[in-house]
Amino acid sequence: MSKWQIPPDGGHMESASGIYYQNMTLKEINDRLETNDLIIIPIGSTENHGLGQNPGEDTFLVTRQAEQIAKATGCTVAQPIWYGSHPNHHLGMPHSIIIPEETFVAYLRAVMAGFWNAGFRKMILLNGHGQDYVIPTAMHQFGKKYQVPSIIINVNWWFVIPEHLRDKVHGGPFETPFVHGDECEASFSMALFPEFIQSEYFESAKFEPLMPPGHINKSGSALPREEGPLPFWQQVGGSPLEVVSTPEGTVGDATLADPEKARGGVNAILDYLERLVNDIMEKYPAGVLPPIDQLSMRPKEDVEAVMKGPFEEGGRHIYTLAYPP
Ligand SMILES: [Zn+2]
Repeated sequence: MSKWQIPPDGGHMESASGIYYQNMTLKEINDRLETNDLIIIPIGSTENHGLGQNPGEDTFLVTRQAEQIAKATGCTVAQPIWYGSHPNHHLGMPHSIIIPEETFVAYLRAVMAGFWNAGFRKMILLNGHGQDYVIPTAMHQFGKKYQVPSIIINVNWWFVIPEHLRDKVHGGPFETPFVHGDECEASFSMALFPEFIQSEYFESAKFEPLMPPGHINKSGSALPREEGPLPFWQQVGGSPLEVVSTPEGTVGDATLADPEKARGGVNAILDYLERLVNDIMEKYPAGVLPPIDQLSMRPKEDVEAVMKGPFEEGGRHIYTLAYPP
């Protein structure tokens, strides 16, 4: 018996359960900061996942994970980022709402600055969508622009548990390798938010990659390196446009999905996320961050002033260092 609820009995995005930052009173938030100042920011997408799956799938995959982690560790979750960046071959696919990279990166920087200024200076950017090529840019730009102590970690959940995403040929639980809206992703969705899934409409769709095999790891880098050393986004022209090659929205065979196939993977990602949060909070308890002089060469008095924040004597808000974020 695992400690995690699979599937959970509903979500918390509209409940007063002390999980979501936006749902708490300021009093509750201030109390939370005294005990745990780490926030998980789920970053999803709105994307076509085929007839039987909801366009919010990538977002719910990470909000449902984050909710269980908050319950287990006492950290807080931000309401998610619903619209994301998409690789070239997604362009034009109806029901995929594409935010340009520059806009998306700037938006994420601003969200990080806002949570930093609110006192949540430990952030886990928990990503549920194939936009892993762009989120680190936002983090590093935030770091360079502000040069203030913080701990910001980006987790692409599927990177943590490749062995649980593989097909049987590669020792995993699935018939087919993980791609998108397919057997694997639909199974994880059924394990985390079955109420949004209608399996009677699941479809199967195949496409022929335009690159010879052995190079692009089409499976979210879950396949062994020798089958494709290059992540899926390190090519343009090697994947046909989705809107042409897989108009179904599913890329793979969703009809094979079964939540039981995802159980090991859900347990493994939740175990890892719990350890990540607990390890950070153990090394840096609430209010504690790595030393200023190891992370910044700004004048120390400037950094100390923004760390105090605008309500304390001698303190200032973060935007006195730079605006816009
Ligand atoms: Zn997805």
